Amino acid sequence: MNKPKVGIIGLTGCSGDQLVILNCEDQLLDLVGAIDIRDFLTATSANDTESRLDVAFVEGSVVSQKDEDLLRRVRERCTILVALGTCAVWGGIPTMDRDQDRPALLRAVYGDLNWEYDTCPAKALHEVVKVDLNLPGCPIEKDQFLATVANLLNGNLPLLPDYAVCTECKMKENNCLLIEKKQVCLGPVSVAGCQARCPSLNIPCVGCRGPCTDANLKSAAATYAENGVAMEDVIRKMKTFAPVPVSEQP
Ligand code: SF4
Ligand code: SF4
Repeated sequence: MNKPKVGIIGLTGCSGDQLVILNCEDQLLDLVGAIDIRDFLTATSANDTESRLDVAFVEGSVVSQKDEDLLRRVRERCTILVALGTCAVWGGIPTMDRDQDRPALLRAVYGDLNWEYDTCPAKALHEVVKVDLNLPGCPIEKDQFLATVANLLNGNLPLLPDYAVCTECKMKENNCLLIEKKQVCLGPVSVAGCQARCPSLNIPCVGCRGPCTDANLKSAAATYAENGVAMEDVIRKMKTFAPVPVSEQP
């Protein structure tokens, strides 16, 4: 049987998700034995940027016309497009400036000749093309990536958690930083999958995996209020990694 052809492609981002893939040290040989990686600029200069792909994993957000053109080309050449990481899924940190005065920002960063640069307001992949699967994380979780590849090899899409970080935090029997220490923890409104990494280290969740669309927002809002945490602080913090849609704001 032919191995599925796969591309791992980066738009504008830190390449952290691609590094997670390269860091799958114990599984890398199995991975390249099971899939035919054709296009992976971060790992090889011998890239096939033209052939049809069964799966394209795309990291980063769209912040320029160049990014948008590349993303549209990738969409045309692949069957399944996976948004890899929070920048690709939600827009990530580059979307923090959505509420800001963009001309002033461009002047501050690029000076008076800012119009010469190829920039546009940052967008998530789904705002430009159809996305078949979202794999959030800043960066992604290695186990989720490997499980995704295994599922795709079997012709399935993986079932990823759609519940909040608090669920994993409770399963680890951590003391609650929000209730016991009155800290602004985004666990109630952020999507799980990281095994509550930060609260398990006594650090409040900053929502790097993006919003949990299945969160009980009414209850979360009440719990924040009971513990003296202002919703403006929660929403401001959430916007670090995702421009929170109004319908998903607590
Ligand atoms: S609010 Fe934070 S510390 Fe408390 S249970 Fe949720 S994730 Fe854990
Ligand atoms: S606990 Fe929150 S900030 Fe930490 S890795 Fe998980 S989602 Fe990201």
